[in-house]
Amino acid sequence: MNPQAHTGSYYAASANEATAFAPLRGEQSADVCVIGAGFTGISTALHLAERGYNVHVVEAHKVGWGASGRNGGQMIGGIAGEKHIAKHHGRDIEDLFGELRWAGHNIIRERVETYNIDCDLKYGYVDVAIKERHMRDIHYDYERLQKANFPHEVRILSREETRAVTGTDAYIGALLNMGNGHLHPLNLCIGEANAAVSLGTTIYEQSPVVEIQRGDRPRVVTENGAVSADAVVIAGNAYHYLERQLRGIMFPVNSFIVATEPLSDAIVAAINPQDLAICDPNFVLEYYRLSADKRLLFGGRLNYFGDDPKVIEAKHRRKIARHYPQLANVRIDYAWGGSIGVPITRVPQLGRLAPNIFYCQGYSGHGVNVTHLAGQIMADAIGGTLERFDLFASVKPLVVPFAHTFNTPMVALGVLYYQVKDRL
Ligand SMILES: Cc1cc2nc3c(=O)[nH]c(=O)nc-3n(C[C@H](O)[C@H](O)[C@H](O)COP(=O)(O)OP(=O)(O)OC[C@H]3O[C@@H](n4cnc5c(N)ncnc54)[C@H](O)[C@@H]3O)c2cc1C
Repeated sequence: MNPQAHTGSYYAASANEATAFAPLRGEQSADVCVIGAGFTGISTALHLAERGYNVHVVEAHKVGWGASGRNGGQMIGGIAGEKHIAKHHGRDIEDLFGELRWAGHNIIRERVETYNIDCDLKYGYVDVAIKERHMRDIHYDYERLQKANFPHEVRILSREETRAVTGTDAYIGALLNMGNGHLHPLNLCIGEANAAVSLGTTIYEQSPVVEIQRGDRPRVVTENGAVSADAVVIAGNAYHYLERQLRGIMFPVNSFIVATEPLSDAIVAAINPQDLAICDPNFVLEYYRLSADKRLLFGGRLNYFGDDPKVIEAKHRRKIARHYPQLANVRIDYAWGGSIGVPITRVPQLGRLAPNIFYCQGYSGHGVNVTHLAGQIMADAIGGTLERFDLFASVKPLVVPFAHTFNTPMVALGVLYYQVKDRL
């Protein structure tokens, strides 16, 4: 693997710029050291920098190299794991989480405006239903939004209305939500990184952290340097490989995306005339949307654990053709995959390994929104405001059996298990 390169994604090919931050060298000192320059790490750094902290971010590869620069770009509301919270923590805690469901969207909107970030942000999203039980979930969600006075248009769509906005007969209905949306995730991440740098943050790329030394001022060590800081935030998520304890509380689940060639106006009008992000409710789900230059970006989890673009293309081409026979032979220009951190509870994991070493991971595929909230909560916690941090930390992570020995076939087995469950 070339640590200087992004994966071969459409996003890397259409990034506004290529970042080139120097690797960490020598002894450095900061208020806060963040490990990982994905949305979690960069969001944390930017929140802290806005409050006047001196932050250093240490990234093994490049800004947005992990899930943040590879994802579906779907800005989905809600925090994963709400069913677990409702069942095990009661209505009051569920309501507290409920209040945070769209907090990350607001942060993204503010940042795009404040820092003038060009990331193709668009509003409009449909949660589609395949089975009657999905429609029941949609009605439940709709009522919750009504009760919460959700400030954006939300509407339940009939089968015919769903067909009209998705161009496929695969769904029996949908929830249209104009508060959700889609964006170019790598350009957002790079834009936010530049914003943090403009406020004094230092970013090091190509600097894998090899050790975190505990103490009053923990020391984050790479091969050629170290950063000592009052606090450390570990934001490596599914790509984190250092602290076994963190690897042991979530599954890395792979997801894959293809980008077609740009589509004609006629095809665009037939398959997605309102430029919505579309997502189905399965665990082994399909999610898709158009890019700014009108490619179909089609993503989904697969029972596959490699990264061969030809295999990804073949598997996704079949799925695309099921929805859109007119695209059976469309040219596919990019195919890539990435890892999502999924806790057993699905609830994002915010916690500490020591009083001054924080971590934040496991958004279960809802990370575009929730990472932005998580970064704000991390900055609050470092500043001593702990209410929302404690709320998340109160959901105790379940240990993934045999996690320390786990390997890709086990991930594939997990996906197979959920494929069977989705069919029930
Ligand atoms: C294919 C795919 C599709 C997805 N689609 C969506 C979607 O449509 N909507 C949505 O909301 N979410 C989606 N997600 C999930 C979302 O992308 C993630 O939840 C989110 O990006 C996580 O951000 P992060 O910063 O926590 O982790 P990452 O973006 O993975 O960043 C972690 C970073 O830490 C670095 N790192 C790790 N260990 C070290 C170390 N020891 N030293 C230095 N650096 C280190 C890595 O190099 C990496 O850059 C998707 C994910 C994938 C993979």
